[in-house]
Amino acid sequence: MGVTARLYYTDSYLKQFDAGVVSVSEDGLRAVLDRTAFYPASGGQLHDLGTLDGIRVIEVVEGEDGSIVHVLETPLAGGRVTGEIDWERRFDFMQQHSGQHLLSAVFEAMYGFKTVSVHMGETSSTVELETAAVTRDHLRAVEESANRAVFENRPITVGFEDAAEAAGLRKAAERTGDLRIVSIDGCDRSACGGTHVRATGEIGPVVLRRLDKIRANVRVEFLCGRRAMRRARLDYEALDAAARVFNAQLDDVPALAASVAGQVKEAGKERRKLGLELAGLRGRQLWESQAVSPTGRRVYIDERASGALDDEVRALALSFTAQPGAAYIATSLDPPAALLAVSEDTGLHAGNLMKPLLSELGGRGGGNNRTAQGSLPAKDALAALIAKLGL
Ligand SMILES: [Zn+2]
Repeated sequence: MGVTARLYYTDSYLKQFDAGVVSVSEDGLRAVLDRTAFYPASGGQLHDLGTLDGIRVIEVVEGEDGSIVHVLETPLAGGRVTGEIDWERRFDFMQQHSGQHLLSAVFEAMYGFKTVSVHMGETSSTVELETAAVTRDHLRAVEESANRAVFENRPITVGFEDAAEAAGLRKAAERTGDLRIVSIDGCDRSACGGTHVRATGEIGPVVLRRLDKIRANVRVEFLCGRRAMRRARLDYEALDAAARVFNAQLDDVPALAASVAGQVKEAGKERRKLGLELAGLRGRQLWESQAVSPTGRRVYIDERASGALDDEVRALALSFTAQPGAAYIATSLDPPAALLAVSEDTGLHAGNLMKPLLSELGGRGGGNNRTAQGSLPAKDALAALIAKLGL
């Protein structure tokens, strides 16, 4: 197929171009041109999108022979074509990529943290730094310094140098021969095939966000340019919505949220305590209003549609059976479960009654003399269990 001339190497601002079709796959969906402004996915930067003669380019990949393959949505014939790249997407990646070079240079200059890998995604980007820890103070200082370099609007230039002679590169070149070198004036020199803005001012605001431990390193999330601006808007809107809930100033939201979360936790504890107390009282009331059955016991059957047979149900059952001659059966349909509590003076043993019946009905569980609990495979088994208990 042959080497494709990469127009973006020398002009990353080229949005439209003419080219000759060198080859097209049999289905017409993969085209190689003699020259292209389309950037293929490589070096941590995503590929361009756009059109060739109005046909959408959905992917751009680098062939092994140095060709650039344009993957198309519908077949392309051949001859000469006009290509157009999706400029909004490309410029966004240029902002991220130049921003990444700047950030990597600043992290290394200020703290000696070397960049070992980069990723520039559709919505956010990261640099992986060779260090065990990055603090908030590091982030603040690097963000400050990187944005200062943006305000200084330093020129970013692209040149070609021989690998053997290229000096002062941030990372030693692995390749020999001609190197494409991207320089940020007075700040960074890196071998890179990516697309870059022409001065740091075009990177726009640089914002550092999440930190993630990855292997022995730390990954730092960053946003540049339009992404940083859009993120700032979303952050503001989220914080503003929270502030409205609290009827407070934005800066007071974190302290208020922490305080409310603490109150909710305390209230939850208090509610559970009151729930248990109430269950205790209700258990006694239930016992008093329950008629004595032909077996001479007061038996209460508490049938619930759903939910776990939790501490509150247990408290109710134990309080009911704290009274003499009583048995309390609680069931839940979803998931099918049963609980049995008996008064001490009944002479019954809840565990010994329940365990064999549960396993007979395909379930499992057990307990002690006062209470027993278990699960059953199906809700039909609950009625069978109650009948077999025969209380
Ligand atoms: Zn690069």
